[in-house]
Amino acid sequence: MAGKTVGVLALQGDYERHVRALESAGAHAVEVRTVSELNAADALVLPGGESTTMLKLLHREGLFEPLKAFGHSKPIFGTCAGAILLATHVTSPEQESLGLMDIGVQRNAYGRQLDSRVVTLPSDLGDLEAVFIRAPIIRSVGPEVKVLATYNNDPVLAEQGRHLVATFHPELTADPRVHAYFLTKL
Ligand code: GLN
Repeated sequence: MAGKTVGVLALQGDYERHVRALESAGAHAVEVRTVSELNAADALVLPGGESTTMLKLLHREGLFEPLKAFGHSKPIFGTCAGAILLATHVTSPEQESLGLMDIGVQRNAYGRQLDSRVVTLPSDLGDLEAVFIRAPIIRSVGPEVKVLATYNNDPVLAEQGRHLVATFHPELTADPRVHAYFLTKL
C-alpha cells in the first residue's frame, strides 16, 4: 500500500468523510472529479449520497465509461449509493449501474419509517457499528460474491475479488476497520 493513492469520487455525497476515514486507516486519499484524477488513483471509493444524482454527474463529466474500465483492473469500494452504482441490477426504481459487482439491490428498501438507524453487527471483521441511511437491501448475490456481514439475514457488507460494498456508512464512525480492510485489496 505504501506510495499508493486512493481516490474518492467527489461529485456528490459524503466524500469528505471517506477521505478522513481512509487517512485514519493509513492511506493517501484524494478527491476525484475528472478522468485524469481517476486514472491517477490506484483504488477508488464511491461514497453514499444519491445514486441517481451521482449517475447523472458521472455521465456529465464523462466518467461513467472510464469508471467501468477502472473497475476492471483496480479495486472499488462502494458504500450505500456507491454500492447501488457498483451493482449489476438495481430496482425501485430500476436504474443504470456499473455492473462491477454481481449483486442485485433494491433502493430505499427499509422504507420511510426506518430511514436511518445504528446497529451493532457481527462481521468477518469483528463486531461493527453500522449506520444505515435510506439504505438499499442487497436482494441477490452471485456465486463469486462473499458476504462478510448480514443484517436481518440480508447481506450488508460483501466483496467480490477486488471490490467491496457496504449498504451502511463505515465512514461515519471512528472505527477504521472497514476502510483498512479495503486497503488490503491494493
Ligand atoms: N437512497 C440513496 C440512493 O438510492 C442511497 C442513500 C445513501 O447513500 N445513504 O441512492
